[in-house]
Amino acid sequence: MLFKISESIASIKPYEAGKPLKALEREYNIESAVKLASNENPLGFSPQVTDAVMKNLHHMNRYPEPVAHDLCQNLARYHKVGPDNIVLGNGSDDLIALLAHAFLNPGDYAVMPLPSFLMYEISVKTAKGAPVMVPLSGFDTPLSAMLDKISSRTKLVFVTNPFNPTGSIITKHAFTAFADQVPPDVLIVVDEAYMEFVRDPAVYNSLDTPLADPRIVTLRTFSKAYGLAGFRIGYGIMDKEAAQILNRIRQPFNVNGLAQVAGEAALADQNFLSKSVDTVHQGIDFLTRELSSLGLDPLPTQANFLMVDVKTDATKLFTRLLHHGVIVRSMKSYGFDTFLRINAGTFQENQACIAALKAELS
Ligand SMILES: *Cc1c(COP(=O)(O)O)cnc(C)c1O
Repeated sequence: MLFKISESIASIKPYEAGKPLKALEREYNIESAVKLASNENPLGFSPQVTDAVMKNLHHMNRYPEPVAHDLCQNLARYHKVGPDNIVLGNGSDDLIALLAHAFLNPGDYAVMPLPSFLMYEISVKTAKGAPVMVPLSGFDTPLSAMLDKISSRTKLVFVTNPFNPTGSIITKHAFTAFADQVPPDVLIVVDEAYMEFVRDPAVYNSLDTPLADPRIVTLRTFSKAYGLAGFRIGYGIMDKEAAQILNRIRQPFNVNGLAQVAGEAALADQNFLSKSVDTVHQGIDFLTRELSSLGLDPLPTQANFLMVDVKTDATKLFTRLLHHGVIVRSMKSYGFDTFLRINAGTFQENQACIAALKAELS
């Protein structure tokens, strides 16, 4: 090539998404495959979302509102913050990228666990920053090792709570001890994509005391518990000044018109949210029980997925499960060579997954 890609960008490995259902059905000529690989909501989304989207469809010749006024007001009321503390994104992926662009100068560091949600590394490198990746402590966020890696050039720290892919949590106690040691000019991004599923009351939930610390940026998404992954909408809650900066640099129409309407309707239907969370809890309990009775070791989890040691090459097993029409996730590329990550589906989906595993492992 005549032109040279920036070194920072050339080092980016492509994002590996979960295998799409349609791709499996096409490739294996299967009619109804089961996907438990991307932590999506097995119940779909609230029927109120469908109504709202259908009612608004004919407005889509117009540009959406650049600031989704009603949604921001409703989120502000829901989380007891001001509308000017909220930034909406095209998924929380968008907010991760905006944070990296807004707060990193070339060569600045962003500290994160290894492995982490891949978008942290991709966004930091795209913004010409340098990710500092700190190996997990067992299956937990390596908070004290992360503290050791913070230097005068560190601008951002990423934590995920509950953690993807292990499902472990950071407790209030552990987070407070950590945050006390983080320098005052470092932003702590707390990605709470799975917070709605947590059952352990010891968890650190940054929105229990919103805006208590101006360094903390909370990320939430409509993709998981609310079931809107395909619409692409997430949000950040943060200090007003940080929000102002992100709102200045984001694309004016980063959240499309149907996503805005869908988000508003989803937030309004808290009954659907509880039903989804209940289904996930039942699913996690079922999978944990059944996997254990197959002689496998599922890790305890506070999220809508669990990691399980299948005691054999995870990627080979993943491929064999595809033949049964079951898509899970091999954790090999995350450094867990013998682990699968499986998210809770409907009862039927969970049963199909266990039946396929039983057939392949016996
Ligand atoms: C799924 C997920 C998200 C959500 O991404 P969206 O862009 O909002 O769909 C964010 N962080 C983590 C760790 C996730 O697993």
